[in-house]
Amino acid sequence: MRRRQVLKAALALLAAGPLRSRAQQPVPIADMHSHFGMFSRREAIESGLADDMRRNRVALMAWKLVADSPWIRAGSSRIEQVRDPAPGELSKYFYRVLDLMLAYVAKHKLKVVLSSADVDACVAGDAGIVLASEGADFLEGRVENLDAAYAKGLRHLQLVHYIRTPVGDFQTVAPTHGGLSEMGKRLVEACNARGILVDLAHATGQAVDQALEIAKAPTVWSHSWVEGQGGSYRDQYGFLMRRLSVAHAKKIAAGGGVIGLWAFGLSRPSALWPVGPRDARAYAGEVVKLVSLIGADHVAFGTDIEGVGANWSLNEYSHVRSVVQHLEEMKLPASDIARVAYGNYARVLKAVLKA
Ligand SMILES: [Zn+2]
Repeated sequence: MRRRQVLKAALALLAAGPLRSRAQQPVPIADMHSHFGMFSRREAIESGLADDMRRNRVALMAWKLVADSPWIRAGSSRIEQVRDPAPGELSKYFYRVLDLMLAYVAKHKLKVVLSSADVDACVAGDAGIVLASEGADFLEGRVENLDAAYAKGLRHLQLVHYIRTPVGDFQTVAPTHGGLSEMGKRLVEACNARGILVDLAHATGQAVDQALEIAKAPTVWSHSWVEGQGGSYRDQYGFLMRRLSVAHAKKIAAGGGVIGLWAFGLSRPSALWPVGPRDARAYAGEVVKLVSLIGADHVAFGTDIEGVGANWSLNEYSHVRSVVQHLEEMKLPASDIARVAYGNYARVLKAVLKA
């Protein structure tokens, strides 16, 4: 009798256990654009990234190497190029930093996301790093050089950033290529063929249009914001130049793609961008707005941690976790929160990655 009762209790626990623990698990987080440990924290080797990811259940983080970092500086109103790289310098810099990133990942046993199965493993519980580059400058104008970066683990490539590039035009200076160059167009094809996610952030509207015409897989715009007709290099401030137009956001979405919202904060928030420093709640409000504009299947976090300057609204993953809580309070449906928090980035990665 007693034994049967114990058995019954055990069976009840078995039945309830997995369900209960599943319900208690926090929704995973993905970030399509992060420079965690690269600039303001300085010490990439002991930045606390791995602990922060695990503590806050970050499943996927595009860790963005800034390919043109030594050649740019923050000017008074925007980031600008300060000198021209010598031949070979861009490639050398890229692999030096990539090796530092790989050493960190290995030391802290983070998972390098290389395949579709890796994405699943991260959604199921691993902390995954998607090796990513902000700028294709390391190619030194040769699409053929992509293979070496792929072999090292690169899976997410933003085409342009802040220095003049043979790839194409970007938002913060006057265009010179008429969108993407021939090399830029071949680069989009090569990324699709290889299984590398194409990131259109920083590209001009014309370059985005051309990339979307060529692309055979979904693309992302990893970070910034969406407003009206989009930005122009003639705008007064960098954050205005970096706006993506509503029409282009919808076009990227129509191709199955995803737009990441950055954690930029304004010292004096405006009606246009009402997110101030340290204001995760206002950031969440912008997520809700973007969801209503382009749909929950096409919005993600693209924090740009350590890339958005001193007025950041989010700077670590506990802050991103608090955004999820704010979204719940704002009554965004749970299925929408799951898509924004991790599902959309996971989906595009799986659509692009081989195996
Ligand atoms: Zn950027």
